[in-house]
Amino acid sequence: MTKPAAIRRQDEVSLDLVVPVHDEEQVLPELIRTLETTFDDACRSRLGLRSVRCIFVDDGSRDRSVEVIQQQAPVGLGIRLLRLSRNFGHQAAVSAGLAHSDADLVAVLDADLQDPPATVCDMIEQWRHGYEVVYGQRRNREASPALRFLYAAFYRLFRWLSPIDVPVDAGDFCLLSRRVVDELDALPEAVRFPRGLRAWVGFPQAAVAYDRPARRAGQSSYGWRDLYNLATEGIASLSLRPLQVAQLLALVYGALSLLGLAAIWLDLFGAADAGTRIDVVIVLLLASNSIILFCIYILGAYLGRTYLEAKGRPSFIVYEDIAVRECAARHSDVAP
Ligand code: UDP
Ligand code: MG
Repeated sequence: MTKPAAIRRQDEVSLDLVVPVHDEEQVLPELIRTLETTFDDACRSRLGLRSVRCIFVDDGSRDRSVEVIQQQAPVGLGIRLLRLSRNFGHQAAVSAGLAHSDADLVAVLDADLQDPPATVCDMIEQWRHGYEVVYGQRRNREASPALRFLYAAFYRLFRWLSPIDVPVDAGDFCLLSRRVVDELDALPEAVRFPRGLRAWVGFPQAAVAYDRPARRAGQSSYGWRDLYNLATEGIASLSLRPLQVAQLLALVYGALSLLGLAAIWLDLFGAADAGTRIDVVIVLLLASNSIILFCIYILGAYLGRTYLEAKGRPSFIVYEDIAVRECAARHSDVAP
């Protein structure tokens, strides 16, 4: 990873907090209170923050999330509410927030308080040491053993398959400099995996370790299928190595077949009866079928992605972009 320039950044900066929101009405009041207390006047002057603004990206919530944000807009912080035209998914919501930010620094954090806002202060400190990307790296995670195991396995597999240096146990929680956000926004792909793209753009990057608590209220929107899709999306978006694995399998199986042919030609099975020979053939056929299906599965993952990219559709559509004053004006319109 590129080393940071040996500087200490002294300038006053603005900060945008990008928060993707999908059906989070139960946790939003606590999130808003936590953001208010974390980024109060004292904290802002200590960290050299000129302004702090929350960009809530409502990703097609079906509950009262939008109303809660409008009614309880954090005091002392700017607020922008970006409503997407439907549910486009967490990754698209993060991309929408980044594309609509304009501050010097942009932090991405989940609405459910699993990404502690106080850790953003440590990230800003790292940025002052010259880093352009500071990501949260989980020391501990409060989750079921099965989920913890799967997350740990995914990040290690992702790192192994990746052609670039991807940190393990690092999700979307991060702080990015304007320079990096501009580079990310300029990337053309429609199907986005922000944490992979964040590693891909490079620049000096640093980790801040944190403990990931359980979500404070409400339900996770991610089911097992979503997690599976996210994992394949992440791998297919960054690495061609699964295709190379498929090629390697084809070569290995081809070599084994030649050995089998040679064995038949040299009559190595001479002593074996016809039944044994048929069993060997059946096993070889089953193995070759499995390998072919596995390779088609891998090809399919890339083909599907190429199909989506070829269409050139945007990764999200904005329905409404509501700024602070409009929020205040809307208070009276909101149903109780
Ligand atoms: N989220 C989103 N769109 C979705 C699903 C989730 O914007 O379709 C948001 C959600 O509100 C939260 C973040 O993405 O702020 C992470 O979601 P969640 O907590 O459900 O995921 P988990 O932490 O269980 O992986
Ligand atoms: Mg969560």
